[in-house]
Amino acid sequence: MQWMQNDDLEFINSQNVLTCIETGLDKPSRAKIAKYVGLSRTAITLIAQRLIKHHLIQELETTVNGRGRPGTPLVIDDTYWHVVGASFYSKRWLFVAINLLGKIILQHTVPVSATTPEEIVGRLLEGLDYMRSNCPGHMIPAFGIGAPGVIDNETGDIFRADDLGWKDIIPIRTIIEQHTGMKAYIINRYRADGLAEIRYGNHKDARNLLYIGIGTGIAGSIYLNGELMNSTKYRLGHMVIDPNGPMCGCGQKGCLQAMAAEIALIGFAEKNIHQHPGFLSSSNERPLTGALICRLAEESDQDAQACLEHIATPISIAICTLVNVIAPEKIIIGGPLGDNSRYLVECIRIKVKERLLDWQNNEITITQGTRGYSGSAVGAASFALDHKLELILGEDSD
Ligand SMILES: [Zn+2]
Repeated sequence: MQWMQNDDLEFINSQNVLTCIETGLDKPSRAKIAKYVGLSRTAITLIAQRLIKHHLIQELETTVNGRGRPGTPLVIDDTYWHVVGASFYSKRWLFVAINLLGKIILQHTVPVSATTPEEIVGRLLEGLDYMRSNCPGHMIPAFGIGAPGVIDNETGDIFRADDLGWKDIIPIRTIIEQHTGMKAYIINRYRADGLAEIRYGNHKDARNLLYIGIGTGIAGSIYLNGELMNSTKYRLGHMVIDPNGPMCGCGQKGCLQAMAAEIALIGFAEKNIHQHPGFLSSSNERPLTGALICRLAEESDQDAQACLEHIATPISIAICTLVNVIAPEKIIIGGPLGDNSRYLVECIRIKVKERLLDWQNNEITITQGTRGYSGSAVGAASFALDHKLELILGEDSD
């Protein structure tokens, strides 16, 4: 049996069985899987044997209770394979190795001294080399990268990154693959954060979700029927909120990103400090950062709260527009600002409620991101895990 080709029927059946064990059913027996994927018990037994042999799944220990032996449940094997993910966030790359259930096994940080593509990509390669040498257990031969900017799904290039002022195409996937000889899967860093949130953040109750990550940039992801919609080129951060608004790095005026990302937050705070010298004087910590403003707001500083209210307005307008288009059941506010500010999320909740109809408000929940510091790197690693079957069987085909 040849396992190398993705369009091979055997491969597709194996993928279906793996997906069923991963997300479809809770600790299913072979009989339940057979029913779920529409294959015979014998076929499932053969596929399960292969997946167990390749350490992708394992049998759960069961005790015999009552009459007869219960079917042995199959679960994902989280003991053998690890995959490496990386994500760029304010002045550093964070690297993680996770197991097949998304648990972090190893974490590593590499600081970045400038926002030029050369520096950022150079430090990325340095960190990937480190992870490759230090990853415990067996490493799946691929990297997942949470990169800044708009990513071209076909080529893995960074198309542009307006929040960093990058206008030229950066062939980041090619650079990594040439340097490491391993595959690389590139996803926008905020979209990666959303992926970690959806997969590991306890959102099984919702199938249609909207994730908005707020940091130095703003990017979002849309999940319809549990699947990430088109992993790349839509740009929620560049929805125009106010055609007369501030200039955005993309050349348009009044984009969501220009009005509500960290730079807009800090700009609003600085303007107020200039006009009212007592503004934000409860802390003399400088320079001002989004993290500082979030922290002060949590400590009930009214000036810091006013700054977050200022960016909550354009974010709520964007959310209402999206609710009117895709009607998600759940909206998650993440990224460095969303994950760290309950106050911001509460403001957005109130402002969204004011703009939607009652029945719409009844059908949506707005929650705060829970993934924190490592979310984006875990999500990037998980993006590479989507290809684990072909990567592992490609390594060891028989
Ligand atoms: Zn823009």
